Amino acid sequence: MIQGISNRLRHNLWRGAVTLTEDRFNKYQKLKSWEELNAEEVENYQHQLLESVLTEAVTNVPYYRDTFRTNGLAVDGELTLDSIDKLPVLTKSDLQENFDRLKHDSIERFSWYVNRSGGSTGEPTKFIQCESYQYWSYAIATYLNERAYYRDGYPRVKLWGSERDVFDVDQSLRSKIGSFLRNETVLDAFTISDSDLDRYVRTINETQPVQIYTYVDAIHELSKHIARNDVSVHSPKSIMTTGGTLHPHIRSEIHDAFETEVFNRYGCREAGDIACECSAHDGLHVTAPFNYVEIVDEDGNPVEEREEGRILVTTLRNPAMPLIRYDTGDIGVKGGTDCSCGLAWPKIQRVSGRASDMIETSNGVVSPISFIHGIGVVLEDDSIEQYQVIQKETNEFIIKATHRGELNKSQLEEEIEKMIKQIVGTDTFVEVQLVDEIPPDPSGKYRYLKSEV
Ligand SMILES: [Zn+2]
Repeated sequence: MIQGISNRLRHNLWRGAVTLTEDRFNKYQKLKSWEELNAEEVENYQHQLLESVLTEAVTNVPYYRDTFRTNGLAVDGELTLDSIDKLPVLTKSDLQENFDRLKHDSIERFSWYVNRSGGSTGEPTKFIQCESYQYWSYAIATYLNERAYYRDGYPRVKLWGSERDVFDVDQSLRSKIGSFLRNETVLDAFTISDSDLDRYVRTINETQPVQIYTYVDAIHELSKHIARNDVSVHSPKSIMTTGGTLHPHIRSEIHDAFETEVFNRYGCREAGDIACECSAHDGLHVTAPFNYVEIVDEDGNPVEEREEGRILVTTLRNPAMPLIRYDTGDIGVKGGTDCSCGLAWPKIQRVSGRASDMIETSNGVVSPISFIHGIGVVLEDDSIEQYQVIQKETNEFIIKATHRGELNKSQLEEEIEKMIKQIVGTDTFVEVQLVDEIPPDPSGKYRYLKSEV
């Protein structure tokens, strides 16, 4: 395509395309106006949004109408609670079992689509998102990137789950044009061999990205490779990591390899970007105009600042299927609202307990996210309730899965086996076991991926 087009022009074309086709830009401006608010104002605005989400839910969403009424929290469609933490938590199984009842009564009013997640807890999940939610989500991403010195249209490398490489998924023309205008180069983060690492360094040096957007484990592999081989690599203005725990030692290895600032972003497919670090690197600001976040103890009660608990999220911009107090399955530490960057959006001090390390296979090292994505998103099978991937040897895998409803067992086994082989290599032995129960570890913790190698 067109060579030599300036980054600035590409940025403007991208902005133009966005403004013409979507109201994403308006949403961006709306959320930008939240930047000026103080902590009290942020809280007030969030409460206003929450109130309207809850009122709409109790009036128009059968699942909430029933649960809120059964729990004595709503009378004649009016909420009687003084605080959101009185409401029941919505688990991944609640979401799966009540998919139809979680739809808005007048869902035809919205433009919507079905989205899926493999779930970092090994439970594949299906949910509905509004098109307008997606525009919010784009706007949030643009905003967060700008705070990490990146503007749409400037060169960027995405070290990402490249579905079309791993799962033979065709990229649409629209997404190709989008990638071109966005000036984005996508490298596969699911399966990485040694020769890939050399190629990735070359691509980064050639494209000179302003930002690298990446899974934690993939950029960590690349950073170790750079340090090990003393390779010279272009230093972007920022590296934005997501999809894993950014432990301090990992952050410093990435920082040392690329000599740049490393930002930590936290999100999930069900709720989009939930929180992101700012240049102060002292906790992650919750995306306040988009999501409401609570950190709670085992009984669903709020924890104190600096205490650890489960992360619950309430989506504020997805009326077709609002998720209220949705249990992400992740653990985080509650932060304060003061920040030297000046933004008064509340903070999660730290997110822990996310995805495990890369694993060695005959295909190279493989990201744990590829299993989540493969089973939850690519497979598109609603009958899998929970799964666990166990690596016995480098080239031997056992996949356990519990299932619901009537199904053709041998067909499901075959499909899972085929999908797993695409990730770990076709010469690998893969055994699928459909079981009644997957027991947790002796510690009581459930792991979706276990490597015994
Ligand atoms: Zn800040």
